Amino acid sequence: MRIVVLAGGIGGARFLRGLKAAAPDADITVIGNTGDDIHLFGLKVCPDLDTVMYTLGGGINEEQGWGRADETFRVKEELAAYGVGPEWFGLGDRDFATHIVRTQMLSAGYPLSAVTEALCDRWQPGVRLLPMSDDRIETHVAVDEDGERRAIHFQEYWVRLRASVPAHAVVPVGADQAEPAPGVLEAIAEADVVLFPPSNPVVSVGTILAVPGIREAIAEAGVPVIGLSPIVGDAPVRGMADKVLAAVGVESTAAAVARHYGAARPLAARDGEERAGGAGLLHGWLVDSVDAGAVQEVAAAGIRCRAVPLMMTDLDATAAMAREALALAEEVRAS
Ligand code: GDP
Ligand code: CA
Repeated sequence: MRIVVLAGGIGGARFLRGLKAAAPDADITVIGNTGDDIHLFGLKVCPDLDTVMYTLGGGINEEQGWGRADETFRVKEELAAYGVGPEWFGLGDRDFATHIVRTQMLSAGYPLSAVTEALCDRWQPGVRLLPMSDDRIETHVAVDEDGERRAIHFQEYWVRLRASVPAHAVVPVGADQAEPAPGVLEAIAEADVVLFPPSNPVVSVGTILAVPGIREAIAEAGVPVIGLSPIVGDAPVRGMADKVLAAVGVESTAAAVARHYGAARPLAARDGEERAGGAGLLHGWLVDSVDAGAVQEVAAAGIRCRAVPLMMTDLDATAAMAREALALAEEVRAS
């Protein structure tokens, strides 16, 4: 079975660990978000790609969910002693090595997709990890600071400001000129199922879908597209997804996020036959058991919906979520 997953950082990476356990023989391609990428200290940092790579490769700081295990911060301290910031972004010594290798290869002319493959040679994540694009895309957030509206880098909004001020807009700068990385559209076209893990719908999955061609390829793949809600009990399980959902006018509920992705055309309609069902992407949506009350609303929007436990507390619980998603995909295919 060929599975394509659109992944951000922590939510995507943890889900992928469960998916690998649930479907050990599957051929999994991960399309990773690069809208969070940032240049720091002259280095190219790709937080979401690295979170997936470290998590699946066994190098992640488990408690934190990002960054390396057994990390130290000597380089950062030394930089700070020179007065060189930013100090709000936590780059550890081990992590620095990844960014140095990446930057060196990019400077030598390799595209990000080739660099990511080279980094994964070490980590052996057990999935094919593709950046959504080799082109530079940076998510910016419009905020009011000191009485003025300005656009700041997503990391500045998320990490420095902890999303403490309202986001007025979220813009994936550069996306409209970008192309999907080599292999991305092919993987989607050849997939048996496409999964949206419980990643941030706006700044993770939304950014991937903003790369021209990716949304269309998913809509036209003619395979079940199944998502899992990152919103449980009307709030993000962790992080501040509610803030960026508000920026795009979406309520922080499992049902509202499903409607935001929208109902896909039923699979049977793919040969040009006109059938009800929308221009959206989802055939199926999983909400947490506490949101069982939302199932009817999601179903009414034309999306098959189940309420199951969606807390990734350990590998077993996460693998069970992945099995539910694959079972829902089979149900969609058989319908
Ligand atoms: P990021 O790039 O590190 O922010 O990670 P993602 O975009 O991949 O995922 C972030 C989302 O994961 C957040 O909105 C969380 O609500 C969601 N999330 C984290 N842990 C869990 C969990 O155990 N269950 C569910 N359903 N969502 C989770
Ligand atoms: Ca991210």
